[in-house]
Amino acid sequence: MSEKQSRMTVDLSGRVAIVTGASRGIGKAIAVSLAENGAKVACVATSVGSVQGTVDEILALGGEAEAFGCLVGETGAAQSVVDAVLAKWEKVDILVNNAGITRDGLLAHMTDEDWDAVLETNLRGTFQFTRACIVPMMQKRYGRIINVSSVSGLVGNPGQANYSASKAGVIGFTNTVAREYAKRKITVNAVAPGFIATDMTKVLGDMIMTEAKKRIPANRVGEPQDIADAVLFLASDAASYITGQVISVDGGMTA
Ligand code: NAP
Repeated sequence: MSEKQSRMTVDLSGRVAIVTGASRGIGKAIAVSLAENGAKVACVATSVGSVQGTVDEILALGGEAEAFGCLVGETGAAQSVVDAVLAKWEKVDILVNNAGITRDGLLAHMTDEDWDAVLETNLRGTFQFTRACIVPMMQKRYGRIINVSSVSGLVGNPGQANYSASKAGVIGFTNTVAREYAKRKITVNAVAPGFIATDMTKVLGDMIMTEAKKRIPANRVGEPQDIADAVLFLASDAASYITGQVISVDGGMTA
């Protein structure tokens, strides 16, 4: 492999991972980082075409990966991906529920469609993939589930009632599933990114970015790799006694 993007080295050789939203931004950094550290990675995005670039990057690094296209919240989609992963690699050790969208607007103007779309992808998608992975993980008595929440799910953010609700829902879901499966050696944790430079935040424009930066004690916007390194730790054996936790990776925004 050529020079690594991940700043951590963990041993994930022989592990099989699924990463949703792996085509770009945070999910791409997570997928590449898991692969660099030895995991085989099923990379999921809305279409095979959109996520093929991540797969090609991993293959070029000497890793193993496959592309899957689906809408994560759709009934049956997660099960199809998990069945295909089991057929190919016989198990799922690591699941990263990262796919997410925003449809921002103040509450008075928020449409049912904007509410439903965000809850469907961010929360229902997390539920669908986690449920599809839990039985195979129970059978192996091993699992690492990492859900990408947000600081908006911890403290709220004007204009994001739908998004905040979905990300707070992800935290509640994480805590309950962690308690249900801790005895089976499956850990379930969340990371709560702050303001990270990706397509999701690029649309906000320079003015909002500059304002957002003023609220970050570290005085910089985060990079996708900041999140990927936290996920790598939670996916590693070193984190085997950590479950039902939320790690904020936000430059101190929620301190
Ligand atoms: P991004 O650059 O907009 O990428 C979103 C990813 O999700 C893409 O891979 C996209 O696939 C995929 N996706 C969206 N809807 C999907 C669906 N219905 N089914 C399957 N895949 C879907 O976002 P990001 O900034 O990297 O965010 C990643 C995660 O971090 C999200 O959960 C987000 O809420 C969370 N987060 C981000 C920030 C931030 O500041 N960026 C802060 C806190 C939390 P396509 O390319 O195929 O569309």
